[in-house]
Amino acid sequence: MKALFLNGIKNVSIENVGLEELKPDEVKIKVEACGVCGSDIHSYYGKNPLISYPVVPGHEFSGIIVESKSKSFKRNDRVVVDPNITCNKCKYCISGKRNFCKDFVSIGNNVYGGFSEYVNVPDSQLYKIPDNVSFIEASVTEPIACIIHGLDIIHAKVGESALILGAGFIGLTFLQILKNMGYSPLMVSELNEYRLNTAKKLGADVVSGNLYDYVMKKTNNNGVDLIVETTGNMKLFEESLDIIGNTGRILAFAVYDPDAYAKIKPSLIFRKEITVTGEFTNPYTMERSLNLISSKAINLNILLNKQININDVENAFKGDIPDTIKAVMVNK
Ligand SMILES: [Zn+2]
Ligand SMILES: [Zn+2]
Repeated sequence: MKALFLNGIKNVSIENVGLEELKPDEVKIKVEACGVCGSDIHSYYGKNPLISYPVVPGHEFSGIIVESKSKSFKRNDRVVVDPNITCNKCKYCISGKRNFCKDFVSIGNNVYGGFSEYVNVPDSQLYKIPDNVSFIEASVTEPIACIIHGLDIIHAKVGESALILGAGFIGLTFLQILKNMGYSPLMVSELNEYRLNTAKKLGADVVSGNLYDYVMKKTNNNGVDLIVETTGNMKLFEESLDIIGNTGRILAFAVYDPDAYAKIKPSLIFRKEITVTGEFTNPYTMERSLNLISSKAINLNILLNKQININDVENAFKGDIPDTIKAVMVNK
């Protein structure tokens, strides 16, 4: 079978390899769809602290079971994979925080993932795909599960105001969920014209001109209640503290460069009671994510706008496919 290997920084090869025999409780999945994540792009450029090379990347995938040693899943089941494997025994796993598992293993980062024709996966990681959800839609269950975890952490409240920094797949999915929750104004800042236009189509208040001035005008000088930062840009991170309102919350949702620093003013955090928080992966939110996708409350077609084959995946890592919100590899 064909598999794409990331052997090191900017070092990709497509190879014909055999697949190991199934272990007890594993299934063999024929990959139908595997999304290119922002973190895969960081891995390609050597900026993802979670990756171990060489690896078959790809952690956002769905497919069909072709062989099963599982008691709960059988041949021909349509499934999506939670790529994050945890021990379920350590301090964090037994206290409802399994995303901090001491033995955290991530399919597509530490073990072979979905940019491949087939992959073996333990059945603990599987979710059945509802009938009205396609393989391509199901491939984004994991990133949307991360978004749901982020929304839980940040205590998103109906009818607040929000600013989303960056209109990639993550920013535009936040946009649609917050729109459904009645967020207004619901502002999006983005430099890429295609992505900005997509935000506009989805009903965002698109930031133009100076960010600070725009937000202050839109919020009657109160500042904004919620900021979702998806760009990894330090200047925007710093500016977030100026434009957030009293008791506002800032969600840091990017794979930040481990060597980057931002200058922040603690006095603002003190005086405005600002909360700055991250969110790490998708603990306990895969099922909610599948339900959300199945509800059709978010328009995924407009976001999953590039279907590519395995030979184009490196171009997607490089950002060489224009007008992309998210590229999804599809095996024909
Ligand atoms: Zn991802
Ligand atoms: Zn654990």
